[in-house]
Amino acid sequence: MEFIKLEIENNIETNYNNSNLNLDTSLNSLSISNLDTKSSESLDLGLGLGLELTNNLDFMINYEIYEKNLIEQLMLRTCELAYKGIEKNCGPFACIITDGSFNIITENNNNVVSNIDPTSHAEINSIREACKILNNFNLQDYKLFSSCEPCPMCLGAIYWSGIKEVYYGASKINSHKYGFSDKFIYDDIKKSKKNRKIKMEQIKTDNIIKSFKEWEKKKDKILY
Ligand SMILES: [Zn+2]
Repeated sequence: MEFIKLEIENNIETNYNNSNLNLDTSLNSLSISNLDTKSSESLDLGLGLGLELTNNLDFMINYEIYEKNLIEQLMLRTCELAYKGIEKNCGPFACIITDGSFNIITENNNNVVSNIDPTSHAEINSIREACKILNNFNLQDYKLFSSCEPCPMCLGAIYWSGIKEVYYGASKINSHKYGFSDKFIYDDIKKSKKNRKIKMEQIKTDNIIKSFKEWEKKKDKILY
């Protein structure tokens, strides 16, 4: 059982201004500890997370504010992870993947230098790890937090993974100022193939679609 710890100062009546709220999203329950009196209480959220609260305690939770706070907490955590990664020889980037209720599945740094791998961006590392943990290549019900706006490679991986919600901290303009520019990639892929920096040429041998034909015949194929 994992508790999400959160303080919602604005939504607590005076009596509870100095309280900690612990929401357990799996059980839909809420426990409140008053920091002054050290007392604590627990109650059921009833119909859903924060939407309907028992009124034997004189306060309300606004789910939108709850979610906004949670998203901010997760972004703070992602950026702290990026910061702490510097001393471990990681690049100044980090990524967290959560489930739909914002429970953390995996968190990773950028390991391009330490792994000697140009694809070892924090988002790629997290997508790979989350898929392994979940034993699923489709992350459509999951959310991704990145300390910086994803580069085109990671954005591509996010599309392929099915993730539909991405939160990022620094923008690509911020990272550009510190020498991590992916602007040239974004600019280059907008150009026609012949004007790009990478030479791309189609070589039409007889077998270029042989594998697709074989795939099409396969009865137990898994589409992705
Ligand atoms: Zn990237």
